[in-house]
Amino acid sequence: MQTATTLDMLRNNLAELRRGGASIGLVPTMGALHDGHLTLVRQAKAACDQVVASIFVNPTQFGPNEDLDAYPRQLAEDSAMLQAEGVALLWAPSVEVMYPAGFATSIGVTGVSAGFCGAARPGHFDGVATVVCKLFNQVQPDFAFFGEKDYQQLAVIRTMARDLDLTLPHVSNIIGIPTVREADGLAMSSRNRYLSPEQRDTAATLPRAMREAIARIEDGQDVTRTLAALEDELLGAGFDSVDYADLADAQSLSVLTQLGDIPARLLVAARIGGTRLIDNMAVGPAH
Ligand code: AMP
Repeated sequence: MQTATTLDMLRNNLAELRRGGASIGLVPTMGALHDGHLTLVRQAKAACDQVVASIFVNPTQFGPNEDLDAYPRQLAEDSAMLQAEGVALLWAPSVEVMYPAGFATSIGVTGVSAGFCGAARPGHFDGVATVVCKLFNQVQPDFAFFGEKDYQQLAVIRTMARDLDLTLPHVSNIIGIPTVREADGLAMSSRNRYLSPEQRDTAATLPRAMREAIARIEDGQDVTRTLAALEDELLGAGFDSVDYADLADAQSLSVLTQLGDIPARLLVAARIGGTRLIDNMAVGPAH
């Protein structure tokens, strides 16, 4: 596996990889890799001739009081994991390479980015859209792979790619991968390592309570009351606060107060101590 840390190195390495018309799959990450990330890599390997993974803890998607400095960084360990999975190239730019002095551009996606994490974390999705657009332009992948774990992020990126007429990758080649979970159902996340053993037990109530709420909603029970009960259950189990627990149209992400005959999604963000966990699951008709 090659590692590129400058744009020149990246271009040279990519030119090598593309020889003979090989297709390129990109897996963007912020590192601190777990099996969720590695599942994206495996899917990319299955679909593309060469896989490029990026590791970049993107400062512009963190708010002023968020965990940018504390975010786990373990490049050597991550690099070994990617190599073992057969990744051809690791793109690991510094902040200075990604945002050189004088950097002045931001991409804002309205609509799908407005609610949920967009409301709870102002500016977050501008940072995400901008860095992902840069990664797409830098690597020009045929396919790009993202987790449904960050469901709203995936919607924002697809909207950005469609609206800006991106061709590498084309919006139809932005692939969403189902959330990979721990044995007890907790969605894998680099932030799970912030949790104490006791908090980790509490965290497992999130997917459990979501599944129960979904069963009730699919059974025809009142959505608003079910979601209020879900919040109460999380707070009762030891979560400190719930940023949101909403049912949304799976495509447009507009909030629903009733389950209709279109695919829907339950989206939740809740905090335990300083750690913010997010999760989402399909509700109603298959997507
Ligand atoms: P991150 O490093 O947290 O920015 O995540 C990088 C990519 O991995 C994003 O597309 C995430 O949605 C995806 N990802 C993170 N956790 C999971 C998971 N548990 N299952 C599937 N994909 C994931």
